[in-house]
Amino acid sequence: MKPFAIAKILTLGLFSFTFNSFSSQVLQVPNSPVNQKILDKLDLDYACMGNTKDHLHFHLDQRAKNILESNKFSKTSLFKDSKIVNENIESQFDIESFSKTKNDLGIYHTHQELVQELQETAKKYPSLTELKVVGTTVEGNDIHAIVLSNKKSTLDKKSFLVTGTHHAREWISTEVPLASIQDLLQSFSSDDEASTILNNSTLVYVPMLNVDGAIFSRTQQRMWRKNRRKEGISSTGVDNNRNYAYEWGGAGASGSAWSNTFRGPEAMSEVENKVIAQLHDQYDFVTAISFHSYSELILWPWGFTDKMKSKDHKIFEKYGKKMGAIMGGYKPIQASGLYPASGVFDDYLYGQHGVLTYTIELGKQFVPKPSEVPTINSNGSKLLRYMFTEARAPFENVANTTEYQIAQALENIVKSLNINSEVTSYTNELSALQSFKKEQIEAVMKDLDMSPLTRIQINRLIKKQALFNTLQDK
Ligand SMILES: [Zn+2]
Repeated sequence: MKPFAIAKILTLGLFSFTFNSFSSQVLQVPNSPVNQKILDKLDLDYACMGNTKDHLHFHLDQRAKNILESNKFSKTSLFKDSKIVNENIESQFDIESFSKTKNDLGIYHTHQELVQELQETAKKYPSLTELKVVGTTVEGNDIHAIVLSNKKSTLDKKSFLVTGTHHAREWISTEVPLASIQDLLQSFSSDDEASTILNNSTLVYVPMLNVDGAIFSRTQQRMWRKNRRKEGISSTGVDNNRNYAYEWGGAGASGSAWSNTFRGPEAMSEVENKVIAQLHDQYDFVTAISFHSYSELILWPWGFTDKMKSKDHKIFEKYGKKMGAIMGGYKPIQASGLYPASGVFDDYLYGQHGVLTYTIELGKQFVPKPSEVPTINSNGSKLLRYMFTEARAPFENVANTTEYQIAQALENIVKSLNINSEVTSYTNELSALQSFKKEQIEAVMKDLDMSPLTRIQINRLIKKQALFNTLQDK
């Protein structure tokens, strides 16, 4: 036997041994500010991974184990009251019904299959669809959007946005938008609800936003989350759901290119994020739904701060609860109720553009079992029909009451107090608040669930501003 062959056998043997000893698990730890800080500081991977108000789940792979070995103090904190909830997270990507080839993933669409299906759909329903290339990625792939609307209808139309696969490994998040497209087109002529929706709406679907990442997850590295932006010679990737221009650079997003929640070199640096901004400029959405997996949650703004609810919390809650019920019991909750995350889709479209925006965390794993997919698709399609029918002017009845004005001023101050915020001036808001009674302000603060510390901080600022204004007047 040639020395080369022997070396090869030895290497293979060593590889399989090392491979078996690599376990890629999910560890559940108590959801506390201390643990959130540790996970962020060590750049451990815990986003979109079965988190609840009480527990955080993070990916305990070899990399995480190495990091924790050299941070013993953090390890002790994290491992206290922890438990393994998934022995091998990667096994979900290799279940029986998937073919192991690059070109067939069973019930799940490859990028190529997705494009083919969209092209066939556009050809089959020319009067109801328009297929568009809305961007080209760093690896030269087209990002497709398909617009559904009855071109012959002259009714006033409201616009909706539906996105899938911000995160590469969340395969199911492309399937639900695709299912909804087929649901509406196939029922158009036979079903009143579907025809009404297509007659009076413009529905913009981007089923696979992060195309490069999606291809990479499907062909190379299943647990890949980000896009494929290059830093130097390495494709380290940016987390597209930390790159939006709203409170970019705040909590729950990393400045390290190696982190799974890397926010990017600047806000909106990524083509995928620019696509969303351009689509909003063009269509002026009233409501937007972004599908992710997993956790069985309905999430809404704010993401960037857990110091307060949004001034429109009750509206978000109303639709959120209904969507949770349609999905068979998903938990509706303000996103930062789990942990703060900045530069996210929901905050950007709502905070910057006033769009009613939700993130739906589908299923119990990134890639649910093929047998579970039809139910998730069908519930997801119902959820979208509900929103297309009911959330057409969600903020229409919001009255510009005193309480709403106070809430708006408080919201701007909290935003300005947020670290790394570009907004630094809140003197106008503070002066405005002086025209309201202290009890009124306190009542709104309570209504917004403001943290006691933030209340004290803002009350102090109002007093200081009042003093300053009195001195100015003299
Ligand atoms: Zn996600």
